[in-house]
Amino acid sequence: MLEAILEYQKKDGQLVKIENEISNSKAKKVVNQMVAVVKDGQQKIVSIEKNANNLIKSFQDLEANFNKQNKLLDSLNKTKFEDLQPEKLEQLEKQTNEITAELLVLEKSIAKLSKEISATLKDFEASKKDVLSAKQRHKQAMQAYNTLLETKKEEMENLKKELAELEKKAEPKLIQKYKKMREDKKYPVFVPLLKNSCGGCLMELSISQHNKLDEKGMLECENCHRIIYK
Ligand SMILES: [Zn+2]
Repeated sequence: MLEAILEYQKKDGQLVKIENEISNSKAKKVVNQMVAVVKDGQQKIVSIEKNANNLIKSFQDLEANFNKQNKLLDSLNKTKFEDLQPEKLEQLEKQTNEITAELLVLEKSIAKLSKEISATLKDFEASKKDVLSAKQRHKQAMQAYNTLLETKKEEMENLKKELAELEKKAEPKLIQKYKKMREDKKYPVFVPLLKNSCGGCLMELSISQHNKLDEKGMLECENCHRIIYK
């Protein structure tokens, strides 16, 4: 009963080996890395854009305030001083000084914000460049990866054909279990009892589990869910 599935598993081991070779290949690793770099870069670009929009909005507010104060100063300067009482003149001078001081502060803030905006734009350009170069590297790695797949294609297809033949001889229930575990990237699925433990995860069997194994010839490991056989 177990022979057929064990033969299937052994043959499948050859396929697992090739699959591992492919997924551990440098090309695949670079593909994965570049996907992550592109994703990070795109997120960064979005946040920089948001930040830039806020900065530009602040800049516009400051600029509007600056223009307003400037206009005010202009109109004060147009006042005919000779017509004014000394008291009024003093008040006017005070007001002018206040506005001038305010304008100086605004000017400084505008200059500072300008610098921030150009640094942000620079950051934006750099991030865009990073993403583009990662996309380029991703494309190259993808080509290498596809070439690797192509070289393994025939061998894999032949193995799959052989597996389809072997599958016919095995018990459907066991094949079903096997395939489910393989989807979860577990190999091997059927493991021998090693001394008193699961041959997959090495967890020790209890006496009752042992009895069950003796009785049925196989047992699902409670820990790793592989099938233990004797
Ligand atoms: Zn186990």
